[in-house]
Amino acid sequence: MAAYDVIIVGAGPAGLSLAVELAEHVRVLVLERAPFGHTAATWYSYGDRVRDHGLDDAVAFRTDRLVFVSPNHKHEMFDDCVVLDHGKVLDIWLERARARGAELVHGEYLGHDVDASGVTVRSSAGEHRGRLLVDCTGPFSPIVAAHDLIVRKDAWVLAGARVRLPAGEVPLEIGYYPLGDDANTYLGIHPFNDTERNVYVFQGQSDTLGDPAALQPLFDATLAERFPTAELVAPISGSIVSGVLRKYALERVVFFGAAGMMNPEAIGMGFNEILRQVRGFAAGLRGALADERLGAAALHRVAMAARDREAMYFQRIIGAFSLHFVKSEAKWDGGVKWLNSLGAESRNWMRNEMSLDWIRRATLNLHKAVPIRETVQNIPPRELAFIGGQLARFVAITAVGEARRRFEDVRRRLALRKRA
Ligand SMILES: Cc1cc2nc3c(=O)[nH]c(=O)nc-3n(C[C@H](O)[C@H](O)[C@H](O)COP(=O)(O)OP(=O)(O)OC[C@H]3O[C@@H](n4cnc5c(N)ncnc54)[C@H](O)[C@@H]3O)c2cc1C
Repeated sequence: MAAYDVIIVGAGPAGLSLAVELAEHVRVLVLERAPFGHTAATWYSYGDRVRDHGLDDAVAFRTDRLVFVSPNHKHEMFDDCVVLDHGKVLDIWLERARARGAELVHGEYLGHDVDASGVTVRSSAGEHRGRLLVDCTGPFSPIVAAHDLIVRKDAWVLAGARVRLPAGEVPLEIGYYPLGDDANTYLGIHPFNDTERNVYVFQGQSDTLGDPAALQPLFDATLAERFPTAELVAPISGSIVSGVLRKYALERVVFFGAAGMMNPEAIGMGFNEILRQVRGFAAGLRGALADERLGAAALHRVAMAARDREAMYFQRIIGAFSLHFVKSEAKWDGGVKWLNSLGAESRNWMRNEMSLDWIRRATLNLHKAVPIRETVQNIPPRELAFIGGQLARFVAITAVGEARRRFEDVRRRLALRKRA
């Protein structure tokens, strides 16, 4: 008999939030190689989402907008934005997971074997027996690598630090600013409190999981130039990966969080997407465990059900256009112009909360904001058919919507005439 129903490997936001959702219902073991409660990331999120997950106590900073700047444009995205104290988030989840009965073990995953009745995980802390393994080891998952599952991978690579600055030296706003170099790197600022800021440089890179250490010299130089009085508090670094896996599960193994390319096509950012998906994913896993549906195909369906397919398609279009923005002379101007064209609705894109109608309007706006001829020259040829297909789909949806509206109009008029 398996000692645990679920063995979660990795105690980052994916592993811990999942442990919290599952531990009241099934027996959970969480295996983590680093000290529990540690991460080098920084998370901005939204007041309502954070409240919904009982994380209000972890809010470090609150503001009503995000600021995006390109060489010639600026977009203010109004929302209930928060920067979280990432250590506090993990501590809250650790306490809840323990209180609900999860067992937390410090050890590095080394391998696993699957048989008819379960899975045996080998770690530096010994052997652990369970019915299901959930891989939450982040972008550099050893299981994904061993099975050669990555079809496509891109990364936002980040290097920076929490720094202490004299009050008033940097505006208290969450912002993303171009550094104006040929490599198209950006400066990101997440205020933490009156005197501390999470400051990092970041760069979009194709066909890689990213090497944050390579950006460290640029961060050091940027800090020295822009914030010479800054005092280093703690390092920040990592990759936010996006991409596609060949499949999102193996026999008795399923991927969640960055290990499972949580951001296919850079969807909704990582931490925020975990908050959005974890409850649906946990419910799917409970069903699979109850019915003993733990084969690769059934678990793959559970993983896919947690994702929003329309949003994925749309983010793929944005991903292809991003290449155009990066290569264009006025780097990112097109992107910021597009955000401005959306007005108050741009926040739906950042939140990854999009209705089909929103996606249709945003796609048509995109083609207005960015010159088609230039776009066609820069978008990888493999994406042109996809984008053309999506555009055709939206034109068809628009035509059907318009026909339906006219039909309703005529019906209403006929009904009025009859009554008269
Ligand atoms: C600098 C930075 C800023 C970011 N900003 C934002 C933001 O503002 N908003 C947002 O939504 N997202 C943001 N992200 C993205 C977000 O942090 C990630 O998407 C998220 O951390 C992914 O969570 P995860 O649990 O899947 O993976 P991870 O956070 O990578 O956690 C994986 C865990 O698995 C453990 N592990 C790995 N291998 C093993 C092994 N062999 N054995 C045992 N344990 C193992 C690791 O130690 C780690 O604890 C940012 C990321 C970075 C790096």
